[in-house]
Amino acid sequence: MLVVMKPNATEAQVDAVVERIRSLGFSPHAIPGAQRTAIGITGNKGGLDPALFESLPGVREAIRVSQPFKLVSREVKEEDTVLDVSGVAIGGRRLVVMAGPCSVESREQVLEAARAVKAAGATMLRGGAYKPRTSPYEFQGMAEDGLKLLALAREETGLRIVTEAMDLETLAMVADYADMVQIGARNMQNFSLLKQLGRIGKPVLLKRGPSATIKEWLMAAEYVVAHGNGQVALCERGIRTFETATRNTLDLNAVPVLKSLTHLPVIVDPSHGIGLRAHVPAMARAAVAAGADGLIIEVHPCPEKALSDGQQSLTPEEFAGLMAQVRIIAGAVDRPV
Ligand code: PEP
Ligand code: MN
Repeated sequence: MLVVMKPNATEAQVDAVVERIRSLGFSPHAIPGAQRTAIGITGNKGGLDPALFESLPGVREAIRVSQPFKLVSREVKEEDTVLDVSGVAIGGRRLVVMAGPCSVESREQVLEAARAVKAAGATMLRGGAYKPRTSPYEFQGMAEDGLKLLALAREETGLRIVTEAMDLETLAMVADYADMVQIGARNMQNFSLLKQLGRIGKPVLLKRGPSATIKEWLMAAEYVVAHGNGQVALCERGIRTFETATRNTLDLNAVPVLKSLTHLPVIVDPSHGIGLRAHVPAMARAAVAAGADGLIIEVHPCPEKALSDGQQSLTPEEFAGLMAQVRIIAGAVDRPV
């Protein structure tokens, strides 16, 4: 249920509603808006009677939320959520581009990639220090040394850092270095990790599980928000289908569907979505046209030498060429880059 306050409701009236919700044994979530404050209620098993709240001073109405996801739904919050990633806004009018290598491999590699993507117009640097690899014999990432290199690249270029946290053991450390914590596709439903992300309060990039429905994905985001962290962006990175010509099937349907169901920003990862360097630009352009709030793209100074995902990584020159196209498409949908 959502309790919507009148535009002129006082702080004391909001507090009284919060108190009433607590006294009934449920959890209140205040959602301040430009026009008015609303208070989401979670923790109730069945439907609540709107009269419980509508009689309180300052309350305009109490609305039942029909979706199973509550706090992330547009029903509960109509306005787009704009994340603040150390000063970079995600979810506002400006399109955000995150780019960099799949994995951090060395000081030279990450600095070269960072300088190149910065020069082409990216505002965030991606790079994994903890890598979820299908085979235990493949490169697993540089761990904390990799995080230190990302921090160095941030210092030099001013790019904000997005990097993956794989488990509870290393989450706090990763969050210390990162401006935004990436939760990989394979961990989308790692509920203990999601709960802890709620408590940590760093912006989160929540990737879609390879076989997760949009509803399951939104429920995963709900975990983070319900545990106290509203700074979540959703990242479409392709789903597993019967198609074998591409690594995954980038589900661009998800972009407009999500934009209608949730107020959270939507980022698209065409690199993992299609998995083939030659086709990454086409899907990046399509994502922007479909209404994505940002892109995350793998770029490597020398893709053929990459320790992971070289086959889908753009060269710095290819990335610069793509950025020029992205600016044109973004302009057509009225978004600056
Ligand atoms: C990555 O971003 O390099 C990655 C491992 O992504 P995903 O979790 O989407 O496979
Ligand atoms: Mn990768």
